[in-house]
Amino acid sequence: MGALARNLRAIQKRVNPPGTPHAARRKILAVVKANAYGHGAVPVARALARAGTDWFGVTCSAEGMELRRGGIRDRILLLTGFWPGEEKHLIQHRLTPAVTRCEQLRMLERAAARARRGPVAFHLKIDSGMNRLGIAPSDVPCVARTLADCPHLKLEGIFTHFASSEVFTDEKTDQQQQVFMRALEHLRSLGVEAPLIHLANSGGIATRPATWANMVRPGLILYGYHQSYDPLDRNAVAAAALPLQPVLSLRTRVISLRDVPVGQGVGYNGRWVASRPSRVAVIAAGYADGLPRALTNRGRLIIRGQFVPMVGTVSMDLTAADVTEIPEVRIGDVATIYGDDGEASLPISEVARLVGTVTSDLCCAIGQRVPRFYLP
Ligand SMILES: *Cc1c(COP(=O)(O)O)cnc(C)c1O
Repeated sequence: MGALARNLRAIQKRVNPPGTPHAARRKILAVVKANAYGHGAVPVARALARAGTDWFGVTCSAEGMELRRGGIRDRILLLTGFWPGEEKHLIQHRLTPAVTRCEQLRMLERAAARARRGPVAFHLKIDSGMNRLGIAPSDVPCVARTLADCPHLKLEGIFTHFASSEVFTDEKTDQQQQVFMRALEHLRSLGVEAPLIHLANSGGIATRPATWANMVRPGLILYGYHQSYDPLDRNAVAAAALPLQPVLSLRTRVISLRDVPVGQGVGYNGRWVASRPSRVAVIAAGYADGLPRALTNRGRLIIRGQFVPMVGTVSMDLTAADVTEIPEVRIGDVATIYGDDGEASLPISEVARLVGTVTSDLCCAIGQRVPRFYLP
């Protein structure tokens, strides 16, 4: 977990440059939803708690409960809110809901009044232009009116989420920020304020200091990657501002070696046919472990410090590679799917680009049956 703690420290330093007075210190809400982007929610949250995270962010109450059962006592924000009927449960386990519709205030108020545990904190999500989730700026008066009737609730945070913060050239982020600031101003004029204001996800933290407010919500950058959908591919700019280290490597072993004669196919539907006498290594990993099936006949692995091409269909449990060029390969050799081996490096972000998706997608796809080992 050394890399994870270092990434968190780099983020803390980025948003709180040396000399920041303690009182002005920006808080970090570490996003550990989706099993901490596939890395393992509880071990990751424990390491981040030790390294000084202020808050955790998950999607839903099931994810919040997993952290509570794992002994995490820090504050947890449910970024996507809650289902009707979950209110009592949230209050019991100190899970802080995001409120994304005006009528949820009344549901929460009823449960808060019944629980008699003092004011129940929540964060209000404002839809500033992503058009998915959150109250519309035009609903501000409804929120203010309803809240005035909710003595058992405490508005602790107001936030929004960006559609394209990682795209340097997109003005949408500035527009969203303006819409959000106007909504905040409108709320304030109606007497509604909150101590925590947060907007920035990874892209905002890396490249847009104007979005930092007093809390930030890093996800992908915690795990060591910058988002990379910028048409100008200015990732180097982000990387210089915020140096990161990938947290995960995905490795398996060679479990079978085959000499395949010319003209013979390998794997389902024989999608690869040997055009020379070939040696094929079969590794114990497939799409159930998270290898995208789209890597069929396109991907690479690292074995004995060298790149080898995947051959044939990536199947559920097994994947083959052409190791004809490396006669020393033996059964039991380590095969690196994502990560470094010797001089060779195969970042998950590069594989994501190859198959036309984002790094987070491939991180989340790493299968449940893959054992996770945590190094200090
Ligand atoms: C997932 C999520 C984040 C983290 O996003 P990254 O782009 O991975 O940093 C932040 N805020 C909200 C509301 C999210 O849902």
